[in-house]
Amino acid sequence: MDTLMQFKIWGDTPAASELNAMLREMEQEWSVTLSDSELSRLNHDGETTLSELTAELLSEAVSLSARTDGSFDPTVYPLVKCWGFTESAYRVPSAPELQALLPYVGIDKVTLSGKEVALADGVALDFGGIAKGFAAEKLAERLEAANTPALLILGGNIQTVGNKPDGTPWSIGISDPNAPEQSAATITFHGSMALVTSGGYQRYFEADGILYHHIIDPKTGYPVDNSLASVTILAKSGTLADAFSTALYVMGFDEGVRFWQESDDFEVVWILKNGKIIATEGAAPLLSDCSFEVVER
Ligand code: AMP
Ligand code: MG
Repeated sequence: MDTLMQFKIWGDTPAASELNAMLREMEQEWSVTLSDSELSRLNHDGETTLSELTAELLSEAVSLSARTDGSFDPTVYPLVKCWGFTESAYRVPSAPELQALLPYVGIDKVTLSGKEVALADGVALDFGGIAKGFAAEKLAERLEAANTPALLILGGNIQTVGNKPDGTPWSIGISDPNAPEQSAATITFHGSMALVTSGGYQRYFEADGILYHHIIDPKTGYPVDNSLASVTILAKSGTLADAFSTALYVMGFDEGVRFWQESDDFEVVWILKNGKIIATEGAAPLLSDCSFEVVER
């Protein structure tokens, strides 16, 4: 999944090798760079019968995309590829080139019925905005069933399982978008939770002095450019947290606030480009080591 993963597991069941095997299988099925992955074959053939796990992931992706009105949309693949993010062969496409790809973007162009999936002509999927969260959730379910506390770090996706055995709370830093090795704020809590951060700083390239990053507005074809430096979602579900971190980054601050106000299954910490930190009223009590504003329902 092209990211550093670090797991801290208290206990030895299930063995780390089993979690590794689960991850390798998911990577194998959902990679767009491995030509024989299940996803690559779907993107190439336009239809297939999916494995159970991939059908579950796609079903969640479709419903979360609809909920965000297409701000999170796995059909952005042609755009992501065009900008060179898929193969790390970065380039700045022309406006007509992007315009020509927009008709192939939209979750209504995916038909999923059980494990049977069909894509409209020219449509292709990218699970980069959701796969790590889904994978973390699946590993967490396995560890939860074995009563094994754990801290799972999959790039910008963090998932805690249970309580830390020494009784102290989990304490997780949110990266400073301007210095990602440092933290801009700390989230402290007990129990199982997913924390997922999206931000342009996580992957980008520079051309002619301009930075282009990897989160694409499906409506324009261009990297999102708004007042946000990063969005962190806190939720029970890692899959939802991952899809919504991408979606709220695309939405921008005001629309993200409205979206949160109409929802009851996640909390948000926004970091603006001007350095300001804003937390929803459910996230605020967990936040420390920074000054911040609070938005209410
Ligand atoms: P994340 O880091 O979770 O925000 O996901 C970003 C990755 O998801 C990118 O590297 C692309 O592979 C893909 N992606 C980019 N823009 C979108 C979007 N608007 N909706 C869904 N996936 C996206
Ligand atoms: Mg995401």
